[in-house]
Amino acid sequence: MNMPLILDGRRVAKTIRSELAEQVSNLKSSGINPRLGIILVGNHPPSLLYVTSKEKACAEVGIDVKTFHLPESASKEQVAEIIHQLNEDRTFHAQILQLPLPSHLPSEELIGMISPFKDVDGLTPVNLGRLVAGRPLYVPATPLGIVELLVRYSIPISGRRIVIVGRGELVGKPLANLLLLHGTRGDATVTICHSKTTNLAHFTKEAEVLVVAAGRPSLITGDMVSEGVVVVDAGINRSEHGVVGDVDFNSVAPKAQAITPVPGGVGPMTVAMLLKNTVLAAKKNASLL
Ligand code: NAP
Repeated sequence: MNMPLILDGRRVAKTIRSELAEQVSNLKSSGINPRLGIILVGNHPPSLLYVTSKEKACAEVGIDVKTFHLPESASKEQVAEIIHQLNEDRTFHAQILQLPLPSHLPSEELIGMISPFKDVDGLTPVNLGRLVAGRPLYVPATPLGIVELLVRYSIPISGRRIVIVGRGELVGKPLANLLLLHGTRGDATVTICHSKTTNLAHFTKEAEVLVVAAGRPSLITGDMVSEGVVVVDAGINRSEHGVVGDVDFNSVAPKAQAITPVPGGVGPMTVAMLLKNTVLAAKKNASLL
């Protein structure tokens, strides 16, 4: 059986963390102490886990992190007050609002209150607009991590047929725009599929690089891909077998040239890119760039 190259996000993320640790140490020598504020509302179990892993990763590279943990019942005004406080406080270079928020809170309105200069999740309308306009400032961490993973494995992007399954705001849509930027990390020919796409397999078979971010376990099976495809599975689905992706690894891997595992592929890269954006924010907000 053909064994594909495994795109090991855990290993690459570790390398990136050590590169960032050096940059943070240099920043500290020049009197800048990179600092991230995390706003967490409620006790959604996956969010608690994500915040813990972000705190741990920050600590590992020397980024100072403070989590503002509000109760499930927090009002819009209470969340807004912390966002504004973090916007104003010059000791914080960056802030994120952990999603999803409890359903009574207006996520879009609250995200829109974050200063675009501290928005290291890249989700404010200004930062998403800048990406679409071809002048990105902060790009959402998952798409950034997917591109970084391909680049670190020397998988070409420019000129290639890249098919994305999923047009979500966190992954598919910003990734498509990132891959359309001019330059060697972009210049791809991008196709986006979604739940209303008819004959999904027709498009996935065309892919030289296939990125799946749909949140549907086993959506992509071996008969839907061509030999030699590079497969990036961003899906995170919790099942009785633990965390699984959107790609049926067992049937797709034998046809793939390279493939990400789940877990251990895109997930660790996402956290690493949040750290990278935070270091960038520290440099920019301290006027070093
Ligand atoms: P989302 O906003 O819910 O978007 C899902 C997308 O998939 C939608 O565009 C939807 O189409 C499409 N879709 C659903 N079923 C489909 C089907 N049967 N065929 C084709 N397309 C289908 O989700 P998201 O926030 O982008 O996240 C997507 C996945 O990535 C989730 O599993 C999420 O947990 C994961 N994720 C992972 C990371 C990471 O760090 N690894 C980070 C963020 C998200 P419509 O638009 O037509 O509804």
